[in-house]
Amino acid sequence: KRRIGVLTSGGDAPGMNGAVRAVVRMAIHCDCEAYAVFEGYEGLVNGGNMIRQLHWEDVRGWLSRGGTLIGSARCMAFRERAGRLRAAKNMILRGIDALVVCGGDGSLTGADVFRAEWPGLLSDLVAAGELTQEQIAPYTVLNIVGLVGSIDNDMSGTDATIGCYSSLTRICDAVDDVFDTAFSHQRGFVIEVMGRHCGWLALMSAISTGADWLFIPENPPRMDGRMRCNRKERGKRRTIVIVAEGAQDRHLNKIASSTIKDILTERLGLDTRTTVLGHTQRGGAACAYDRWLSTLQGVEAVRAVLEMSPQSPVPVITIRENKIMRTPLMDAVQATKDVTAKIHAKDFDAAMNERDAEFKE
Ligand code: ATP
Repeated sequence: KRRIGVLTSGGDAPGMNGAVRAVVRMAIHCDCEAYAVFEGYEGLVNGGNMIRQLHWEDVRGWLSRGGTLIGSARCMAFRERAGRLRAAKNMILRGIDALVVCGGDGSLTGADVFRAEWPGLLSDLVAAGELTQEQIAPYTVLNIVGLVGSIDNDMSGTDATIGCYSSLTRICDAVDDVFDTAFSHQRGFVIEVMGRHCGWLALMSAISTGADWLFIPENPPRMDGRMRCNRKERGKRRTIVIVAEGAQDRHLNKIASSTIKDILTERLGLDTRTTVLGHTQRGGAACAYDRWLSTLQGVEAVRAVLEMSPQSPVPVITIRENKIMRTPLMDAVQATKDVTAKIHAKDFDAAMNERDAEFKE
């Protein structure tokens, strides 16, 4: 029987368990065996009981569970060839030559590197006497498929990443709670949400909560006094500002939540508080959408892994216009990197000025 491994890597996201459950059950449905690799690439590098077979009933009830039950880690060893050599050996010893990786762009880049190196890793293992030619013969190609697990919704080429809607739900609940107290005391609240390089989660949060202002890395404001209008005169009892943790000004300097708080206090005369939502955004049960998405994508990942040809590029499972699709992984990663590079580019300020001028016209 073919053996398919599944691992979760990078920052955890609600829905990762749903993805693992779907991979395990679809693999079994397709007459394969499913193996969980615990603690991300760490489990692949260390082997032993960090790689364990999972049966149908082992993943019962996982669909709604938050976090990742098979663990996730940032693994320095896997970034080095020596670590990937150990990972390859552990996989061959377990008879695993197909892997579904659920993680962010870093984890998926690692998966692509691993697949590209695979034949060379196997030859090196034989040359070093760690494996024999007979042992590696059935495993000449490594099939890898990516699933994007990230609360940040920060991958190009897919409308949603597994976890982002659960996180958005959590943020909406928290902002609703803050609304009540803000209303009571006619306060301003600056609410910091996750998103170091990508403002999608903050943008979705601001729209979904009807926030008054939003700060994201991709669209820096002029800190020139636009936050002015007298909100109390307009009968407003609460003012909410959403800030992505990576919010920056046009000179690429971080905009701290405390700076925005000071503006609200001094310029608008609002009694203002700051709330950093932190890791509550990651925790808790997966929302309905993430249960649905992770299941459909997990099923598709197993199909893709079984249908891959040696020449085909590593696919990542995406969703576009409500259709589950396969996209070349490195195209999606490169497009994501291009966007990130743009928002950290030196001429960003000039580009923003140009855009403002066009807007005025
Ligand atoms: P998040 O979006 O939450 O940051 P991520 O998957 O991008 O998730 P990273 O810390 O970038 O998180 O990567 C997770 C792990 O993937 C790393 O600890 C490392 O083991 C592996 N990895 C990342 N980049 C590479 C790479 N270029 N080569 C090999 N392995 C990598």
